[in-house]
Amino acid sequence: MTDFFEVHERDGAARIGELRLAEPIPTPALVDREDVAPPTGAVDGLVHHLLRDAGSLWSTEREDPTGNDASLTILPHRGLPAGTPEEVGEAFATEYPDVDFPSAAVISPDTAADHGTDAYVLSGTPGLVGHARAFVERVIEVREAIPPDTALYLSGVATPVNLGLLVYAGVDLVDPTRAVVKGTQGKYLTSEGESFPSDRTELPCPCPACATPVSEFDRADCVEHNVRALAAEVATVRERVRKGRLRDYLEGQVRHDPWLTAALRCFDGEYAYLEARAPIVRNTEMLATTEDAMRRVEIQRFADRVTSRYRSRFDAPLILVPCSARKPYSDSQSHEQFNDAIRYRGHVVSMTSPIGVVPQELEHTYPAQHYDSAVTGRWSAEEIDFVANVLSGYLERNDYSRAIAHVPPEGYREACERAEAATGLDFEYTVSDHPTTDTSLSALADALDGEPRYRKREREHRTVKAICDYQFGADAGDALFSGFEVESRIPKLRVTVGDEQVATQVAQYGVLALTLAGARRWVESEVPTRTVEIDDFVPRGSVLAPGIVDTDGEIRVGDEVIVRGPEAFGVGRAAMSGREMTESTRGIAVTVRHVEETD
Ligand SMILES: [Zn+2]
Repeated sequence: MTDFFEVHERDGAARIGELRLAEPIPTPALVDREDVAPPTGAVDGLVHHLLRDAGSLWSTEREDPTGNDASLTILPHRGLPAGTPEEVGEAFATEYPDVDFPSAAVISPDTAADHGTDAYVLSGTPGLVGHARAFVERVIEVREAIPPDTALYLSGVATPVNLGLLVYAGVDLVDPTRAVVKGTQGKYLTSEGESFPSDRTELPCPCPACATPVSEFDRADCVEHNVRALAAEVATVRERVRKGRLRDYLEGQVRHDPWLTAALRCFDGEYAYLEARAPIVRNTEMLATTEDAMRRVEIQRFADRVTSRYRSRFDAPLILVPCSARKPYSDSQSHEQFNDAIRYRGHVVSMTSPIGVVPQELEHTYPAQHYDSAVTGRWSAEEIDFVANVLSGYLERNDYSRAIAHVPPEGYREACERAEAATGLDFEYTVSDHPTTDTSLSALADALDGEPRYRKREREHRTVKAICDYQFGADAGDALFSGFEVESRIPKLRVTVGDEQVATQVAQYGVLALTLAGARRWVESEVPTRTVEIDDFVPRGSVLAPGIVDTDGEIRVGDEVIVRGPEAFGVGRAAMSGREMTESTRGIAVTVRHVEETD
């Protein structure tokens, strides 16, 4: 039961939350104990001094701890030595009293569970700094064991250089302890790392402490600066999470320290942890400027869906073309030239690093319409590998009578040749020098001579079916709406069955939003649903977590969900994951689009 913490926004495992004290505090936040004096008067106000310790278990065992709503009270706990065997830890596990003020429990991996508190203080974390795999495994283990709508607090860990990674991992609260200690050792912290002021020619920071000349800069100045630098980094990271852009930032930020780079790579190996928390749709740009971008969960999930859910329904030659800087691709000049040559006689699939392959029907979905990558005209060996693998997987699932590769010789061609070798298919190559030269475009048009054209209406029908597969699961395109008609244009298609509208394509996400009629067809079809079962009320606008009885299906942030209960049937978009819905006691769970009263 969480009364005093609420998650408002999510960016993967990172969240924007609120500690609901007498004065609410936005998280991720820099907090400290009330009885620890601020290191210098000048940094007062940067750190929320809100933690208070209710004392040791031994002295207050028989009494209920006291607290108030102005601070987060750390409940009495036993400190067991590190390395205590698990069964001993369990035998001595503290039972926490049910209190009516904001509270936190101190946990170790052995005792991490739902103790009914608003926050959890993970003990023994300073020793994990510098140890990438141990850090990642410890945080994931604990985050999975405590309720999702509670705050995770790591003490003695945060510095400006590592703060982004801590938040990315799912940490909500940190304190200035490490920054203060480093300051007392004379170490000057920035988001790039640490150095001794005496080794520096200048101090790059505009804070009051750094106005002191380097020659006179003492340890008190260093402490003050370090805390300010950490507070500034907390604000930077918090804003990144709000914008859904923490990962873009982190791919650059972790480069300043090898252990952070290693930790980010370890997280990329934890697909289940990150995928469960990554939104399905977003309307923010994705910056893909490092090789780590290929391993991010949204890219992996897109490649997975294209090779395991999507199926081409075009009875036309496959035409592989290069991606364009402009998104969606069909708005670019190069793709307009390709389409003029193709003239509805081929199925266009764009090859791209770091997404892999994007069938034309999915070009408006996330992240195909949203990424911006560094284009040099050359792909690295790793990029060629990745694109070749996705293309091979795609070709194993989709049969074409012919495959034409209208791609540049650099990179693309090699990825194509790998896919040919892997699948035994033979591609026809139509580019001699560059894909948009007259010679190349004529060769493409000539290669399609005699191929029949398909109609625009067929293309729109197939687009709806492809999006259904991508969004609702393999074969959903055929099973969800039989006999549907399409009105309007891509990317704002309206889908009707008889006189009823069942879905609309949402231009900024490329996916479908269902109407009530569409939701009923989903329930009646054989396509597995994602359902949120609610109590006996009719939701208006949104469903809050306490009103949820159960969920069915793997629900991710941004997924279409059915909302149903004894008195209501509705459809909307999930604002939290299915696990969060059932385990949370606060927060908006579903934004309801349409609802009706039932009996
Ligand atoms: Zn400074």
